[in-house]
Amino acid sequence: MSFKQEAKENFPDWPIYDEDELNAVNEVINSKNWWAGSPGVHKGENVWKFQEEFANLQEANHCIAVFNGTVAIETALLALGVGLGDEVIVSDYTFVASASAVIATNAVPIFCDIDPDTFVMDVNKVEELINERTKAIIPVHLGGNPVEMDKLMEIANKYDLRVVEDSAHAHGSRYKGKRLGNWGNAGTFSFQASKVITAGEGGAIIVNDKSLANLIYSISDCGRVKNEYFYKHVRYGTNYRMNEFQAAVLRKQMEKFPDQHKLRNENAKYLTKELNKIHGIKVIKPTPGTEELGWYIFPFVFDPVEFSGISKDEFYESLNKNGIPTDDCYPPLHSLTCFKEVNLRPGIDYSHANWGSAKSKDENFPVVSDIYSRSIEFPHEILLASKEKLDSIVEFIASLKKR
Ligand SMILES: *Cc1c(COP(=O)(O)O)cnc(C)c1O
Repeated sequence: MSFKQEAKENFPDWPIYDEDELNAVNEVINSKNWWAGSPGVHKGENVWKFQEEFANLQEANHCIAVFNGTVAIETALLALGVGLGDEVIVSDYTFVASASAVIATNAVPIFCDIDPDTFVMDVNKVEELINERTKAIIPVHLGGNPVEMDKLMEIANKYDLRVVEDSAHAHGSRYKGKRLGNWGNAGTFSFQASKVITAGEGGAIIVNDKSLANLIYSISDCGRVKNEYFYKHVRYGTNYRMNEFQAAVLRKQMEKFPDQHKLRNENAKYLTKELNKIHGIKVIKPTPGTEELGWYIFPFVFDPVEFSGISKDEFYESLNKNGIPTDDCYPPLHSLTCFKEVNLRPGIDYSHANWGSAKSKDENFPVVSDIYSRSIEFPHEILLASKEKLDSIVEFIASLKKR
């Protein structure tokens, strides 16, 4: 599979930065406050300010910054009491982190198939996966496209389950009046290099319940309690703290975000309209009720019959070779090598998982397997390009029909 690198020069590059980020990092270095430490004890303040600013952006009461999006999920699960003997229902179409974070808590992920139009967890298939071991659900808002959170929360409440929204793609997404990450108990975000707000690595958890926020903070900072004695470790916790360099860059990236987000939403609408005019192309459909979309990726599926039998690899190759940066979509979790094995961690019983050896067959996850076999995705920076550039993509894809 070829990746977008070779095609980068023709389209907006990512990350986008200027003097603001350079000066911010310089300031941190010269301040000698390279970590945030404890409020009132240490002088680093970018992390504390970032937490407030990101909570504001996502319209949440609290934000806890951590060093990546994977440990953000893990910390939220731990705080919600997920652990040994528990099962957690996860969308099958996502980055491995949504499930590896579950493994890290000693719980067992259970994979849920997707909706063929929106590519996110099919909430109608969740209930059949619930049993007495089920403790939590991790909906993943793929490309920023919302899982139907109103319906999912009804199910979660009915069975008394916790919900952690993996919002690594959903900065700025809004569904039925609420920003994503605020529907469940907690919402987790990533600021890894490819994400729409980035410091190379970084993560955050948004929460609306104050005591849960305090618990999450404590777990991510060695079991400390804010404003209490520094060496009083009241519970199990570990060091998942974000540093001042990350936070300083993120604060500047966040200033650039609103304009980029607006442009991505406008351009995605335009590109969707134009691409859907081509017979055999179907762009991901925003979940009904979506008001803004994060558009971390722009996925679409093609019908090989309409494209004289083109393979997925050929489709990628031709886009990339022609200067259009194109990425592979995530191979579904059930198909990953690690989930064909059943002994991921010593001492854990994975025999009830709906994956592993024969259970990992594509026929057990029919929708995602079909979608993945024909899907292509553009990275979000393509949506920062001019209309002319977008037109050239549409023209090129239409021309592939006449190969
Ligand atoms: C990026 C990402 C994460 C977190 O990844 P990190 O690289 O650890 O920040 C989690 N879930 C999804 C769906 C992601 O794309």
